[in-house]
Amino acid sequence: MKICVLPGDGIGPEITAEAVRVLKALGLKFEMEEALLGGCAVDATGDPYPEATQKLAQAADAVLLGAVGGPKWDVYPREQRPERGLLGIRKQLGLFANLRPAVLYSELANASTLKPEVVSGLDILIIRELTGDIYFGQPRGIEVRNGEKVGINTMIYSESEIRRIAKVAFESARKRNKKLCSVDKINVLECTQLWRDTVSGMAADYPDVELTHMLVDNAAMQLVRNPKQFDVMVTGNMFGDILSDEASMLTGSIGMLPSASLDANNKGMFEPCHGSAPDIAGKGIANPLATILSAAMMLRYTFAREAEAQHIESAVKKVLAQGYRTGDIYESGAKRVGTREMGDAVLAAL
Ligand code: NAD
Repeated sequence: MKICVLPGDGIGPEITAEAVRVLKALGLKFEMEEALLGGCAVDATGDPYPEATQKLAQAADAVLLGAVGGPKWDVYPREQRPERGLLGIRKQLGLFANLRPAVLYSELANASTLKPEVVSGLDILIIRELTGDIYFGQPRGIEVRNGEKVGINTMIYSESEIRRIAKVAFESARKRNKKLCSVDKINVLECTQLWRDTVSGMAADYPDVELTHMLVDNAAMQLVRNPKQFDVMVTGNMFGDILSDEASMLTGSIGMLPSASLDANNKGMFEPCHGSAPDIAGKGIANPLATILSAAMMLRYTFAREAEAQHIESAVKKVLAQGYRTGDIYESGAKRVGTREMGDAVLAAL
């Protein structure tokens, strides 16, 4: 079980250190090696995704990433921006399936802007296709037609692209509450008619999974009206971009949200949904739980270690129940802790 650890920039090194401690405490035989990605890689080599990191990431079974970026590099030429490193690694590793769970621990129900009864106990998984759709389709660009400028993008999906993401979704639903909602816009977009037909055509192979379909505008509304009706949602790149951010905000605490990006063989990159938080970097106060929960996703999806994944998730639940809170999720009366103490609490609960 080879893990390439990429701490990255800002709070990245602080939060990945805690996730690595948790992984080591499981007593499994991991081989972990660190490399540079993002701004720190630019500083050291001039390249946000240097050759040495590429080799290590390609040879590993999974990548654990902190976060990249910061104001220091925002003025650099585009090819030396930290985000280039992130896009580079996603592309090189062929990570087409982005999994974002939105779980609201009942202890944090007040952190959401929605009423506690609407979100308490929320546990949904949004699966977004990551390498196709209107974000990559050709033709694209801005050109002059009939004497005025027009902007063009192309929404395009092949059957094989739809099938491979739908397979991830059906299989994920199987491991959860066996409900899958596929989101499209068939009333307007032919591309998504193919999406719906293809997903429907696969349903017979998964008789234990209840498949439903929803138009994206309704899905956006239902996510805030009654989010607990969903188990797994699957959709294309653009709809998924928007819906996954909407879903993550149901929980109200960005420091709690993990993510996984997988290839066809379940090799993946696991990272918190948040960024490098330059405003709190180096202060030892960042919430490491999203990264620790990302490590749990790694165990579940890449290494098929469901039991250990659940141990970590239960440990996180326990420390919340014990009242430990970093600043971002702090409520009066709770025990305010820093990054390392939160890691200590998870280790103790484990
Ligand atoms: P951010 O997620 O880094 O921070 C937003 C706010 O949330 C900040 O106030 C921050 O302090 C807080 N926050 C984030 N994570 C936290 C944690 N674990 N614990 C406590 N508080 C936390 O978003 P931003 O400020 O828009 O971006 C900062 C940098 O991160 C930018 O350079 C951006 O490009 C980069 N970024 C990287 C990724 C990634 O690596 N995947 C994702 C998003 C943004």
